[in-house]
Amino acid sequence: MDKRNLAERFFTTDVSGIRKVGAMAMGLKDSINLSIGQPHFEVPESIREAAKKAIDEGMNSYTETQGIGKLVDAFQNQLGGYYAKDEILTTLAVSGGLVLSFMALLNPGDEVLISDPYYVMHKQLALLLGVRPVYYETYDCDFQLPLEKIEALITNKTKAIVICSPSNPTGMVYSREQLKALAEILDKHGIVAISDEIYDLFCYDSPFVSIAEFYRANTVVLKGFSKSHAMTGWRLGYAAGPKELIQAMAKFQQFTFVCAPSMVQVAGLEALKVDMTPFAEDYKNKRNKIYNGLIDAGYEVIKPAGAFYILPKAPTGSGVEFVKKCIAENLLVIPGSVFSEKDTHFRISYAASDETIERGLEVLRKII
Ligand code: PLP
Repeated sequence: MDKRNLAERFFTTDVSGIRKVGAMAMGLKDSINLSIGQPHFEVPESIREAAKKAIDEGMNSYTETQGIGKLVDAFQNQLGGYYAKDEILTTLAVSGGLVLSFMALLNPGDEVLISDPYYVMHKQLALLLGVRPVYYETYDCDFQLPLEKIEALITNKTKAIVICSPSNPTGMVYSREQLKALAEILDKHGIVAISDEIYDLFCYDSPFVSIAEFYRANTVVLKGFSKSHAMTGWRLGYAAGPKELIQAMAKFQQFTFVCAPSMVQVAGLEALKVDMTPFAEDYKNKRNKIYNGLIDAGYEVIKPAGAFYILPKAPTGSGVEFVKKCIAENLLVIPGSVFSEKDTHFRISYAASDETIERGLEVLRKII
């Protein structure tokens, strides 16, 4: 088919950064892979068993758009009872929640505030919908929330802000004080918060805080099982927020995704019973290992407090050039430019065995 048959939105969606990394890594065998955005542990057995049993027992049909009743009840409980049932929607992981919330909130031409560095989908989804991503750069404030800068970027077209804490790719966690202050700014300007909370389990130095605590009436919270339970392929998550917004998202779900996979919804009930905190403890040790290793080797890096990423400065200036050197040594990491308008850093995922992290550090010590 001729490319000209494709819709205009294909040409406004930029995938070059990711494609470049794929091309660079082609041909690598038995590489030291510190690039992957998913936990290295297996889905706990009881969850896998619950899914198999659900299939065998006939949970193979469409479900309610909102999700099966018992699961919505369990989400309500998980959210501390702050949301009514019609303020909760089962989604196809956090990606599903992002698509639906963007669709429900943003018109073409609107502006959405997104941090730089960002999670790629936050930017690309805006572009896909004809929405203008406006970046609040966080390089000069240790990847924290630059409150003054954010307020200065607000225009009469700004409709929403995406908050991602703990963050991919920086690993930063915003403090209670910062989130409260941000909520006050957003309230003053009537801006909706889209809170991507996919890494909420992975907070190493302080308990997880959601902006919803201060701004519930104007926040949509997006949660999921991909990272906390290593269920990336299962596609399960949930959204909670003001009724008008959640019902609008449910309407779009009805005409797009229909429902989250039925047997996965049943398994989700089991997943909520499993204590995943030991995994987070293990990842805290990995965070310490990689951070200390990088500092000892002489890298310039800010200590992350959550998720499973760390974003050091590339010693050679360009992140892309530095990643080429890493790949030449069989180490797979990602240039910061994939997650940013700048090319100055590189992202390491430490969701890997201690041995792999050690091998990665060895290469990084050698090439700095
Ligand atoms: N949000 C962030 C910040 C992520 O890092 C990811 C995946 O890497 C997602 C959302 C999408 O996750 P999922 O759709 O699997 O829940």
